[in-house]
Amino acid sequence: MLNVSDLKTPCYLIDEERLQRNLEILRGVEKRTGAKILLAQKAFSCYHFYPLIGEYISGTACSGLYEARLGFEEMGKENHVFSAAYREDEMDEIISYCGHIIFNSFSQLEKYRERVLAAGKKIGLRINPELSTQEGHEIYDPCSPKSRLGITRKNFREDMLEGVSGLHFHTLCEQNSDDLERTLEAVEKKFGGVLKKMEWINFGGGHHITREDYDIKLLENCINRMQAKYGLEVYLEPGEAVALNAGYLVTEVLDITENDMPIAIVDTSAACHMPDVLEMPYRPPLYGAGEVGAKPWCYRLGSQTCLAGDVIGEYSFDEPLKIGDRLVFGDMAIYSMVKNNTFNGMPLPEILFRRRDGSLERLRNFGYEDFKSRL
Ligand SMILES: *Cc1c(COP(=O)(O)O)cnc(C)c1O
Repeated sequence: MLNVSDLKTPCYLIDEERLQRNLEILRGVEKRTGAKILLAQKAFSCYHFYPLIGEYISGTACSGLYEARLGFEEMGKENHVFSAAYREDEMDEIISYCGHIIFNSFSQLEKYRERVLAAGKKIGLRINPELSTQEGHEIYDPCSPKSRLGITRKNFREDMLEGVSGLHFHTLCEQNSDDLERTLEAVEKKFGGVLKKMEWINFGGGHHITREDYDIKLLENCINRMQAKYGLEVYLEPGEAVALNAGYLVTEVLDITENDMPIAIVDTSAACHMPDVLEMPYRPPLYGAGEVGAKPWCYRLGSQTCLAGDVIGEYSFDEPLKIGDRLVFGDMAIYSMVKNNTFNGMPLPEILFRRRDGSLERLRNFGYEDFKSRL
C-alpha cells in the first residue's frame, strides 16, 4: 500500500485519490439529477481539502457558528445550517455566513424569521418523520422516542409557515437508499400537503453513497420523484460518504504483554483518536489483519492511556507482532480528527496528506501546547 515505516506515529493520513474517487461518485449524482450535495462538516472538517471538495459538490452543511464560519471562509459555496436551537448573540453572524437557516421549532422560527428574511436568506424547518430505520444505534437515531431533533406531525403548525420555503429531515446513518425510500414514504404521508407549498427539501445525511453496495439508481429515483411530484429542489448533506475510506491512522506497537491472551500496546487510543470505536461502538478495519481466529496470531490492541476500556479490538495476524511494528487502521478520515481529544495527556496525531503521485505532505502537527492550551 504505502511505506509507513518512516512516518512519525500516531498520524492520520488522508488519501487524495480515495477522496477524489468519492467526490466523482457524488458529482455524478448531482450531474444526473440536478440535486445539490453538501459536505456535512461534522464528519470531516479538514478544510485543507475544501477547495478540492468544492470543485465537485455544491457546498457545506453546518451545525452552528464555528462550522458555519469554516464552510463560508474555506469553501465559500452554498452553506446550510441546522441547529437544535440558536443563541441570540450568534444569530446575526450565522445568518451572514449561511444561505439557508433551518429551525427545529416554531418558537425559534418566530424569534428569528424577520432577521433571516431581511437578510434575503432562506428558511427551512426540520421535521421528524418518526420512522426509525436503524437498529442498535439509538444514539444515532433522531426518530427514537422523545427525540429532540425535528418537529413531529402532531406538533407541526401548518398555519405558521410564513416565510418558510423548505423542509429538512435527517434520520439515516450509514444506510442504503432502500431506507431513504421508506423514509420518503413516511415524509410524504405525514407532510405531503406541506411539501406542495415548499420550494426545496433536504434529505439530510447518513446516505452511504460511496459504499460499494450502495444502490445509486434507487437514490436517483427518489430524488427525481420528489422533483417531479412536488417541483422541489433537492439537497443531500452526507458527511461520511464524502470521505469514506479516504484516510488511515498509523500507529506503532510499543510493547507486548500477556493476560489470558497476547496484548499489544500501541501509541494511539480509541478514546482519544477514534472515539466512535467506543461510542458507536465499532471495530475499525486494520490492514493485513483478520477477525479473531482467521489468522494464527491473535492480539488484543490497547492504548497507552489509563482507561481500562481503551481497547481498539482483537485482531489476528499472519506473523507474531513485534515491538516497533507499524499498524494501519482504515476508514480514519471521518469522525476521527473532528472528535479527537487529549484525554490523559495523549498527543494528537499529525495530519498528513498523500497526493495522487504518492508524495506525502504534512498538513498539521501538534504538541504539548495543544494539550495545555485548552485547560
Ligand atoms: C450528522 C449529520 C449529517 C451527516 O451525517 P453522515 O452520517 O455523516 O452522512 C447530515 N446532516 C445532519 C443534520 C447531521 O446531523
